Amino acid sequence: MGEARVYFSGGIWLKIGRWRILIDPVGRPVEQPDITLFTHGHIDHISGAPYIYHLTPMFASGATKRLIEIRYPRLAGDSVIPLPLGFELRLGDLLIKTYNAGHIVGSVQYLIEHRDVRIGVTGDLNMVRSLTERPAELLADLDLLVIEATYGSSFYVFPDRDDLYAGIERWAREVLAAGGIPVLVGYALGKAQELTALSSRIIGIKPYVTREVERYNRVFESYRGVRLGWRSLKNNAVKELKGEDSIIVTSSRGFGRLKNLLRLYGIRYEPAYFSGWALSREYPGRGFPLSSHADYRMLMGYIEDARPRKVLTVYGFRRSLAGDVRRKLGIEAEPIEIV
Ligand SMILES: [Zn+2]
Repeated sequence: MGEARVYFSGGIWLKIGRWRILIDPVGRPVEQPDITLFTHGHIDHISGAPYIYHLTPMFASGATKRLIEIRYPRLAGDSVIPLPLGFELRLGDLLIKTYNAGHIVGSVQYLIEHRDVRIGVTGDLNMVRSLTERPAELLADLDLLVIEATYGSSFYVFPDRDDLYAGIERWAREVLAAGGIPVLVGYALGKAQELTALSSRIIGIKPYVTREVERYNRVFESYRGVRLGWRSLKNNAVKELKGEDSIIVTSSRGFGRLKNLLRLYGIRYEPAYFSGWALSREYPGRGFPLSSHADYRMLMGYIEDARPRKVLTVYGFRRSLAGDVRRKLGIEAEPIEIV
């Protein structure tokens, strides 16, 4: 790997040749990067943007650019330069290319080539085809792979996606048959779009969605060119839900407010929560391990297929994943150095 140095300090730093590249900055960076890349629009990957937009060119996919602008309106306009999927950006002796990451709308992996050194950075990944995402592409022939390890412990193996969808549908139909309203609670960006599609396409009921979900549903629809199928739930419409076969999709924050209204109007409801952590956590209602991330098996499979010369793990169970990559796959691996 020679000339490259990769470490985590409020984001992933990649120093190669004369380049200082910062990926997914969080908070104020201690040093000025030459360029900044964003893998996707979740807050824990973009929160550095307002601190550095005047210091460095920032690149992201079109959808991620839009999501950054929604979160930080003063970055609207040309603060973030859009990089379409598959586009090659050449800057002197540096070549940057984007690949689908399968995590949420606009999520990408980066392949960074400097002379003959090839480095892949995955961001958050998912390898399954879902109602809303295509599986992550594989980055091959790498000298170094920097891969997320959110669920990088062998405990986290998720059920088959179609079985999960079927289980969720069964649960929702039971709630409806008992005269209740199924309330699907999930992260507003990513999970809620999948839950909206699940309700409208699999269960066959266009769900009501709360405001935060509506905003991200619109971003999804405009970048994917598809309709998810939903209705917006205005506060004053909540009382109309009585006696109708309805499903609600909301973020947990939206659910906090909604709960009070449902109780006020005497509407029966049952919440369900959707996260990979449902394998290990208790929720105040049903929990389904429907994740936007790769599970342990998918992460190991990706590394085995990609066969990079070296692996660095970042986020989550980075130590245990790196250990398993060394022992089980015989590939050099370490948790990323945190500075
Ligand atoms: Zn994410």
